[in-house]
Amino acid sequence: MKRTLKEIANWINIDCQSYSDTIIKGVSIDTRTISEGDLFIPFRGESVNGHKYVAQAFEKGAAATLWLRDEPNPPTDMPVLFVEDAELALQEMARAYRHEHQAKFIGVTGSNGKTSSKDILASMLTPFYKVQKTIGNFNNQLGVPITILNLDEDTEIAVLEMGMSGFGEIEFLTKLAKPHFAVITNIGEAHMQDLGSREGIAKAKFEIILGLNEDGILFFDGDEPLLQNLVNSQAQLTSKGFGFNTSNDLVATSIETTEKGSRFTVQGEVNGEFFIPVLGKHQVKNSLNAILLGKNLGLTNEQIREGLSQVSLTDMRMQLVPTEQGILFINDAYNAAPTSMMAAIHFVQSTSLREDKWLVLGDMLELGDDEQKFHEQIANAIDAEAISRVCLYGTRMKWLYEQLKQKFANEYLMHTENDYDQIVDYIKRHANEKSLILLKGSRGMKLETVLNSFK
Ligand code: ATP
Ligand code: MG
Repeated sequence: MKRTLKEIANWINIDCQSYSDTIIKGVSIDTRTISEGDLFIPFRGESVNGHKYVAQAFEKGAAATLWLRDEPNPPTDMPVLFVEDAELALQEMARAYRHEHQAKFIGVTGSNGKTSSKDILASMLTPFYKVQKTIGNFNNQLGVPITILNLDEDTEIAVLEMGMSGFGEIEFLTKLAKPHFAVITNIGEAHMQDLGSREGIAKAKFEIILGLNEDGILFFDGDEPLLQNLVNSQAQLTSKGFGFNTSNDLVATSIETTEKGSRFTVQGEVNGEFFIPVLGKHQVKNSLNAILLGKNLGLTNEQIREGLSQVSLTDMRMQLVPTEQGILFINDAYNAAPTSMMAAIHFVQSTSLREDKWLVLGDMLELGDDEQKFHEQIANAIDAEAISRVCLYGTRMKWLYEQLKQKFANEYLMHTENDYDQIVDYIKRHANEKSLILLKGSRGMKLETVLNSFK
C-alpha cells in the first residue's frame, strides 16, 4: 500500500502530531520479516514485549511504529502513532484499507483444505490477474488484517485464508474482509473440543456468509449434508455446491492418478477434463471450488485448464519426495485430523503409484474427549490387503496400535511413543524401490523429521 502516516492515523481516529507525510507501505509485527517502509506493530504479551524491538525495526527500515499509550519511554525523534490497543488498531486499519481497495476478495474457510484451496486458487488465477494470498497459515484475527494491509494497491484478487477455533471468529474475519466470494472447503472434526459437535463446526464455518458482499457467492462442499441444510435455510443466499455427489453444481468424476498429479473430469456448471500437478482425491475436490470461481470470474475453460496445470502447494501437503534409496515418500505431515487422515490413507490405498504401501502415522491432537475413539476408528479406514506396513508414532497412536494388531501380524506393525530413530531404522530395514510411504500426523508430531535421514 501507499498511505501517509496522517491517513493511517485518520483510519484509526487518532492524532498524528508529527511526521505526518511519512509514507507507509505495509505493516509488520515481526522484525525478522519486516520490509522497508513498513509500519511496525509491537504487541505486549506475557513473555514478550514488542516495544523492545522498535529500535531494531527502525534499523531494518520500518517507516514508523505504533506505541501503546501506557508503555514508558517512547522514541522521541521517530514517527510514532500512540494507540490504546495494538490489535484493535491493526484490525481498524485493515478494515479501512479493505474498504478503499478495488480488488475482488475471496475468503476461504473449512476444517481441512483451506491452505491447499487458497494455494490452488491463487496459482490458477495468477496467469490472468495480479493475485495476492495469505502467506503461510496467517489465517487468524492478526493474520487476516496483516495480509490485507500488505496488499499492493494494484492487486486484483486477494485470496484470504480464514481459520477459527470457536464461534464468532469467522464472523469477525468475514466482516472485516467483506469477501465477494466465500469458500467452505469441508467440515471435519478439528476443534470439536471447542464447538461441541460437527453441527457446531458447520455453523461456525457458515458464519462466513455474514460478511459476504451483496451479490456475493458461497461455494461449499455439497457432499456435506450439514452445509446443505444450512444453505437451504438461507433463501437470499447465492450458493454453489461442489463435490462428488451428482446433485452438486459442479461434480468431479473419473479421477486418475499418475506420479505427476491427478487427471479428472468435471460435469455441471463447467464441463471438461482437467489436470492438477497434485495428489489426492481431496485435492481434486479443492480444485473444484477453484474451477467454479474461475468460471464465475469469467475465465474460459481453456484458461482454467492452463491455470490449474501450474498449481503448486505449500510444503508438506501431499508432497511427493523421492529418495536416493528409491523410496517414494508422500509428505503430508503438515497436520492431521480424522477426515484428512482418512483422505490421505484412502489415497495411498487406491493409488497404483507403487506396490508396497506403508503408513507412518502420528498422533492427532486437539480432538477433545473422544480422542481415543477417533484414533481407534482410523483402523476401519485401513485396508490390510492394500497396506503392507504401518508405523505409529506418539502416545495416542497406542490406541490405533491396539486395534491394528487384529489386522496386521507383529512384524508388519510397529509403535513408538517418541523415538523417530526407531521408525527410521524400521524403514531402512524394510523399504525398497517399490515402497510408497505416507507421513502424516498433527503439526506437533513433526513427522517430517523422519525424512532428515533420507536424501
Ligand atoms: P489448518 O487448519 O492447519 O490451516 P488447512 O485447512 O489450511 O489446515 P491444509 O493445510 O490445506 O488445510 O491441509 C491440511 C490437511 O488436510 C492436509 O493433510 C491435506 O492433505 C488434507 N486435506 C486437504 N484438503 C482436504 C479436504 N478437502 N478434505 C479432507 N482433507 C483435506
Ligand atoms: Mg491452513
